[in-house]
Amino acid sequence: MHLLPNHLPVLIYAAIPWLLACCLIACHGPESTPESDPTPNGDQDETSTPSTPATRTDLEWKEILSPLQYEVARGAGTERAFTGIYWDTKTAGTYQCVCCKAPLFRSNSKFDSGCGWPSFFEPLEGSRLVEITDETLGMRRIEVRCKGCDAHLGHVFPDGPEPTGLRYCINSASLSLVEDAPSD
Ligand SMILES: [Zn+2]
Repeated sequence: MHLLPNHLPVLIYAAIPWLLACCLIACHGPESTPESDPTPNGDQDETSTPSTPATRTDLEWKEILSPLQYEVARGAGTERAFTGIYWDTKTAGTYQCVCCKAPLFRSNSKFDSGCGWPSFFEPLEGSRLVEITDETLGMRRIEVRCKGCDAHLGHVFPDGPEPTGLRYCINSASLSLVEDAPSD
């Protein structure tokens, strides 16, 4: 029993490394918790970065476009002939991409092809169109898409009028007409 007081300092020294170790664990514990939970930062990034037409998700397009516009422009669909809003339109103006608003065609290149879809013999200068070979439906056709947002627009055929001999057969659902201001 008389030895106990002499051993106390030894016991205290022996305990110091353990206390230090406990301190280190306690200090580092809380720091690592936020790192291991990235959810709050991930959510912030999504809301603080607005999407552009080029990066917009399928779900976002679905919210912005009408069901027909979505089906045609984002799903490469085709509206029924003689049913679109522009197949017979002769109003002067500029036809834009319905998705990203890029100007695509002028009304003065629109002609009556009789096919039931808006038809143009040439795109606007500095064309914002991309042409892709389309071999679906057992046919070889040239699909026309928007360069800015990859929207499906329609097809181009080599049976148009002069001066180009081309017929850009475009779905009304992929277009948005901005009428010219009336001049007097
Ligand atoms: Zn577009």
